[in-house]
Amino acid sequence: MSIEVPTADVKLNPLKTRPTVIAIDGTSASGKSTTSRQVARALGFVYVDTGAMYRTLAWHSLQQKVDVHDEKQVAALCRKWKTSLECADNEVHLLVNGYYPALEIRTAETSAAVPHVAAVPKVREWMKKKQRECIQFGNLVMEGRDIGTNVFPETDFKFYLDAALDERSKRRAAEGVQENLAARDQRDSQRAAAPLMIALGAKVINNSGMTVAQTSKMVLDEVQSRLAAALVQR
Ligand code: C5P
Repeated sequence: MSIEVPTADVKLNPLKTRPTVIAIDGTSASGKSTTSRQVARALGFVYVDTGAMYRTLAWHSLQQKVDVHDEKQVAALCRKWKTSLECADNEVHLLVNGYYPALEIRTAETSAAVPHVAAVPKVREWMKKKQRECIQFGNLVMEGRDIGTNVFPETDFKFYLDAALDERSKRRAAEGVQENLAARDQRDSQRAAAPLMIALGAKVINNSGMTVAQTSKMVLDEVQSRLAAALVQR
């Protein structure tokens, strides 16, 4: 099935100041990844999946036999792991020991471990710094849980995606993944450090019953109207 990618005639950053960041946060399986990829492609921006960065640490912890429930062990591993950021085909990846574990980070085992490592305050500090470094690659569409609230709170372009739980569970099942999304969302929303929540000024999109192309179009239209409003104010 081919997906129609909306085209965009948005002239972002006309004053050529700092790179622009579009922050797309939301619940698990709310369509953040596909929407963010489409929006990035339509605008010629670089796409950053911050969930993949947390997943990489969770996978690495499991590899290193670190107990993901032990905050100290996880923080110690995060202090010393050897990583680098790479931008290929307009996507940023976090490599560990020069390797991007694309498939390994999507297993059920990694998915179950990731909210535990993501709740460690030292891990979040480390990730925030790395995620802000991504600006070196240019204008970004960055997806995650705390991008608009914590990583790039200064951006004017914030979005929060959500959909009904049963629909999100069906989407995951269609990808061949069975997991307890409600439990992961609960952990992500209730942790003390940078919990999942709607950023002030974020455009909330509940995309139950919508296609990815429709969601992407809503995001692009909103970016365009916020940009027009910002130019009028100057
Ligand atoms: O988006 P994805 O489902 O791949 O994210 C995996 C997990 O990574 C989330 O459930 C959450 O625990 C963590 N995460 C986070 N903050 C982000 C991105 C992801 O805590 N910005």
